[in-house]
Amino acid sequence: MVEKMLPFKKNDTFKLKIEAMGSDGMGIGKHEGVVIFVPLTAVGDEIEVKIVKLQKNFAFGIISKMLSESKDRVPVDCPYFNQCGGCVYRHISPESENNIKAERVKDCIERIGGFSFADGSIEFEGIEGGTRYNYRNKAQIPLGLDKNNKLIMGYYAKHSHRIVDNKKCLLHPEIFNSIIDVFRDWYEQFGDSVYNEETHKGVLRHLYLRVGEKTGDILFCLVINGDKVKNLDKLAGMLKMNIPEIKSFVLNINKEKTNVILGTKERIIFGEEHIKDILCGRVFNISPLSFYQVNRKQAEKLYNKAKEYADLKENETLLDLYCGAGTIGLSLINETNKLIGVEIIPDAIENAKKNAKENGIENAEFICGDASDAAKILSDRGEKPDVIIVDPPRKGLDSTLIDTVSKMSPKRVVYVSCDPATLGRDLKIFSEKGYLTKKVKAFDLFPGTSHVETVCLLDRQANVI
Ligand code: SAH
Repeated sequence: MVEKMLPFKKNDTFKLKIEAMGSDGMGIGKHEGVVIFVPLTAVGDEIEVKIVKLQKNFAFGIISKMLSESKDRVPVDCPYFNQCGGCVYRHISPESENNIKAERVKDCIERIGGFSFADGSIEFEGIEGGTRYNYRNKAQIPLGLDKNNKLIMGYYAKHSHRIVDNKKCLLHPEIFNSIIDVFRDWYEQFGDSVYNEETHKGVLRHLYLRVGEKTGDILFCLVINGDKVKNLDKLAGMLKMNIPEIKSFVLNINKEKTNVILGTKERIIFGEEHIKDILCGRVFNISPLSFYQVNRKQAEKLYNKAKEYADLKENETLLDLYCGAGTIGLSLINETNKLIGVEIIPDAIENAKKNAKENGIENAEFICGDASDAAKILSDRGEKPDVIIVDPPRKGLDSTLIDTVSKMSPKRVVYVSCDPATLGRDLKIFSEKGYLTKKVKAFDLFPGTSHVETVCLLDRQANVI
C-alpha cells in the first residue's frame, strides 16, 4: 500500500545527486520530487542509489554504485566508519563538516525561529570547529558477545543495538584504548558473564570511562546487572598495575531492563567517587552521574563565549538553569556576583556545591529540582536575576519555563543548546515574550558526529517591563 504512493519500489536503482545533508548526517537527494536519504554520502556525490526502505513520503537508500565523487570527500581514516554509529562525517573534510553544521544552525534559527540573518537584525558569528581525534573525555562502551561467544565492545551500529567491536576508536584518548585492552585481558582470563539485552541475563553491561584532561585523573566505572562481579579484585589489581592514572574504580549497579546506561546505586572499589578537572581556570569535581561536556577544549571556548554574552557586571546576579556540576555559572562569576544554579540530578548538585567551595566561591546557591518548578519558586520569592543562562538537554525548554524566565525580566538571556531544532522553536517563543536573539555562535564539541552546540544572546526589548 505504502509503495503505491511513491514513484519507485524497494530495491529499485536509479541515478541520484546528493544535494544536502540531513540533521543525522545522511545525504539527501530527490527523485521525482521525493526525498531520499542515503548514508555515507556527501553533497555533490552522483550515485546510483538502491532503495532499501520506503516511508509514506520519503525513502532510504544505499549507494549501489559511485558515479562521481563530491569534492568534499576525503579518504576515510577509520576502519569501523561504515558500520559504527559513532561518527557520520569521517568521509568529508572538516571544513565541509563545519559548513554543514553552521548551515544547520542558521537554517533552524531562520526557518523554525523566524529570524533572518540577511536583514542584519541577528548576527551569526560562525562556527568554531575542532579536531576529530582523541577529543572525548568520556566513553560509554556497551559489552556483548559475538556469535562465537567472544567478547565484543564498541559503539552500536547506526540505528541499531548491534555492537560493532572496536579496537581503536579515534574519538577516544589513546589511554582509553589501553584501558579497554586491560579489561579485555581480564575478561579472557577471569571474566564474569556478559549482559544480554534481550534475555536480561548476564552481569557485565557497560564500561564507563572518564578522564579529567588537565589533571590526568581517570575514573573507571563498570556497570553491572547484579551486586557482585566474579574476580573483581583481579580486575582492580590489573588496572592499578597497568594504568596508574586510574584514580577511581566505581561499580555502578543497573538491574533495570532499560536503555539507560547508568543505574542510581554505586559502590566504590578504590579511590574517590569523583574525578577532578580544570576548566576556565577553575577546578571541578565530577561524579559518574553528573553531566560534563565530553570535549573539554571546545567546551572552554563555548563557556568563554557564554561569558562574553552574559556580560555580567559587578554585583549582578546570574541564574544558571540546567547547571550540571555548576561548570558554566562557576566559570563566569567573580566575587561580587551572586550565582543561583538549578539542576535535577542530586549528585551533580553535590558536585556543584563542592565545586563552589573548592574555588572559594561563597556567593553561590544550588537547588536540586526541575528547572521549570525551581524558576517559578525563585520568581515567587522575588529573585530578579540580571542574567539567566539556560543549557537544557536536547528536548529544549518548556514554554512555561520560557514564560517564567521572561517574567523575571533579566537584562539578557544566554541560551546554550545542543539541538538546533528545539533551539529555533524556543527562540521564537522567547521573541514573542520580548527577548530577541541578537547573536549566535556555533561550536563543534562533537567533530565527526552529527551533533553541534550553539550559544545565543537574547536581549530584553525596551517594551518588556
Ligand atoms: N550546564 C551544564 C550541564 C548541561 S547538560 C554544563 O555545561 O556542564 C543539561 C543538564 O540539565 C544536565 O545536567 C541534566 O541533568 C539537567 N537536566 C535535565 N532535565 C532537567 C530538568 N527538568 N530540570 C533541571 N535540570 C535538568
